[in-house]
Amino acid sequence: MNSKTSKPVVIAGAGPTGLMCAIALARQNIPVIVFEAEPALTHDLRAGSYHPPTLEMMAPYGITDRMHDTGLQVREWQIRDKRGEYIAQFDLGLLADVTPYPYRLHLEQHRLTPIQLDILRTIPGTEVHFNHRVADYTQDGDGVRVTVETNGETRVIEASWLIGADGSRSVVRKGTGIEFEGFTWPEFFVVASTPYDLGQHGFTMNAYVSDPIEWAAVFKVPDDGPPGLWRAAFYGDPQKSDAELLDPANIERAMQLLVPRDQPYEIRYKSIYRVHQRVAQTFIHGRALLAGDAAHLNNPLGGFGLNSGIHDAINLADKLGRVWHGENETLLGVYDRQRRAATVEQVQKMSIRNKQLLQERDPAVQRQHLTELMAVAADPQRARAHVLESSMLGGLRRANAVT
Ligand SMILES: Cc1cc2nc3c(=O)[nH]c(=O)nc-3n(C[C@H](O)[C@H](O)[C@H](O)COP(=O)(O)OP(=O)(O)OC[C@H]3O[C@@H](n4cnc5c(N)ncnc54)[C@H](O)[C@@H]3O)c2cc1C
Repeated sequence: MNSKTSKPVVIAGAGPTGLMCAIALARQNIPVIVFEAEPALTHDLRAGSYHPPTLEMMAPYGITDRMHDTGLQVREWQIRDKRGEYIAQFDLGLLADVTPYPYRLHLEQHRLTPIQLDILRTIPGTEVHFNHRVADYTQDGDGVRVTVETNGETRVIEASWLIGADGSRSVVRKGTGIEFEGFTWPEFFVVASTPYDLGQHGFTMNAYVSDPIEWAAVFKVPDDGPPGLWRAAFYGDPQKSDAELLDPANIERAMQLLVPRDQPYEIRYKSIYRVHQRVAQTFIHGRALLAGDAAHLNNPLGGFGLNSGIHDAINLADKLGRVWHGENETLLGVYDRQRRAATVEQVQKMSIRNKQLLQERDPAVQRQHLTELMAVAADPQRARAHVLESSMLGGLRRANAVT
């Protein structure tokens, strides 16, 4: 036990990042309280693709095993042109010597968080309060006074540290005054899910279709069980209203452009969202610490957002745990440097590059790019280097070497 304080660590947000922080801290005998603004875990359509290092990090907590009960193991993924003439296909099996999980695991985010919550609730010394919104806080050298609103009432909690895992509009980040540097893409992302099997048209369970306007990112998620759902993300014209973008005719048109067929598509879910590329100038502000979407945002091409949040949580829990148990607080600076390096040098660069390449406007450049990728995919050594980076393993190794 920390000699100076037994005040708990308060975590704002019971998303995947906040719950992961809570589990990893609680397993080190640190008391944690999670406050979640919503009345229950959120259930909307979000991320759902887990890279090998993320599966490795969650394994010691029993999360990864449980994800495999329903998750889909996706060994191969593609980048293709619209007509399927150019297809670069990558095999994560090439990483079998460096990871026990040489594949991406697909599982909806809203199926991960109940597993995390379930595990958290088995650990003594933890509390999770739904319908409790972190509204404000003040801090001094000894701790943080966190103001929480619930049912129109206000409570003040004395915490040793406050972790802001409260998503893109983070109250904790705003309270620090830390700048959220970056930009917002002009267009919307439109997401639609269908049970129609795109696999019969040659799509791997994760595929990216390159086109200046009609680009698409496809990935299959398990849903409630077989046959699963194929989810596609498309360009959404920023001049159009939400209603126009979500109009069944617009969704049908986009699906038919992806794979033309005689019959209309059955659409189970659809949504739109705005995409940002932003990184907080620092992830630590005294005793207020940022993780996950509260600290950084990126477009979903490559599936890095949620994965990065888990990587933050594991790294932060390691450093904060050591500080709690007596090491110097400057150790938290290492969290900031390592995770900002991973975010700025890899996630931001790769996700922006993925989007730009997918939307390449010059057909000759697009062909050249796809031809080059096909050559990379056909050469085991170059393909291995490519999947090492795109699976986040390479970037993490470099970032974790930062001191
Ligand atoms: C609409 C949408 C679609 C997405 N689609 C994809 C995708 O297809 N692929 C991909 O890789 N990534 C996607 N992402 C990103 C991915 O879902 C996030 O990276 C991931 O959710 C980050 O987890 P997090 O726990 O950091 O934040 P969140 O999941 O946002 O969790 C934050 C939690 O904090 C709670 N909260 C907020 N404010 C407070 C407060 N003041 N007090 C207490 N609780 C609070 C929220 O209710 C929420 O439960 C999407 C994100 C969104 C918003």
